[in-house]
Amino acid sequence: MIDLHGRNINKLRISLTEVCNMACTYCVTSLSDHRRIPDELSADHMLRLVRMLKEHAGIEKVRLTGGEPLLYPNLIQVISGIREMGIGNIGMTTNGQLLAKKTKALVEAGLQHVNLSLDSLEPEKFKRLGRVGKLHKTLEGIEECMKFGLRVKVNMVVVKGENEDEIVKMLEYGVRQGVEIRYLELMAMGPLYKKDDFKLVTMHEILERISTRYTVQPVSAEVDSTSLRYGVTGGYFGIIPNNSAPFCSTCSRLRLTSNGQLIGCLSNPAPLSIRHLLEHSDPQEPLQKLVQKSISYKQDAAFTGSPLVMSRIGG
Ligand code: SAM
Repeated sequence: MIDLHGRNINKLRISLTEVCNMACTYCVTSLSDHRRIPDELSADHMLRLVRMLKEHAGIEKVRLTGGEPLLYPNLIQVISGIREMGIGNIGMTTNGQLLAKKTKALVEAGLQHVNLSLDSLEPEKFKRLGRVGKLHKTLEGIEECMKFGLRVKVNMVVVKGENEDEIVKMLEYGVRQGVEIRYLELMAMGPLYKKDDFKLVTMHEILERISTRYTVQPVSAEVDSTSLRYGVTGGYFGIIPNNSAPFCSTCSRLRLTSNGQLIGCLSNPAPLSIRHLLEHSDPQEPLQKLVQKSISYKQDAAFTGSPLVMSRIGG
């Protein structure tokens, strides 16, 4: 579906559940913030909503996220259901804690690419930033994905005074493993919204650090990609410059929450429920109206912050 600024909104990001098995300090204030909401959609209902969005709103690509998508009880059913409805581009964003043992089943169900969140390669720091979780589990998850031929990217949220000293080390790891590292600028969301002490490390600072070790060449990325992409000897990396160079003007995403609400923009969430359309005999027209309204909330210039917690929306 084309929005008022001419953007083709064809990517759907689904937060399957708000539950998570980590509690990253920049995402929530404690693990108990990640509660399972009582009206989480069943897999059948989620799939019916995805089908409607494919048929009546032009959704062509789906990313499963959360909370932690690997904690969603019927994840395999959801992935195979999405594949069966003819959506050929299915990805997942995960912290990887439960990934290693499930990779084979996920690939067989139709998963094609995975973004793994990995903020540190030092066990202590990994624990400090994530509060829960073990570094070796995420690393094993990455290795399994590579073994099964999934396309893998690693997301590192860079936090001033916490992990910016690992920017180069993370790229060296990526080059060694053959995975693309993407550095995420911190976003003023949830607990960080309107916080004075916002520990941002800018794109410029990230590039400066990498340039001390590598010669960096800008390379092209997909038109609607959120990241700026660069080449170095032996590999590539990306930066998602949420603050320094927002990607709003090419944003092609629509978000669906675990209880069936559409969110058109991270800055201006204004959730709109489409759940009631499950009862509708002819949902096309009301759905298209709701999608149009939701994407009309999209900013045309910059992310301006949000009190919403990222795990509600899924990133
Ligand atoms: N549990 C999964 C994971 O950790 O990848 C998926 C959900 S998580 C909310 C999705 C992504 O959002 C992660 O890469 C996480 O690092 C990122 N994220 C959460 N809060 C953020 C913030 N305030 N700024 C930037 N990225 C954030």
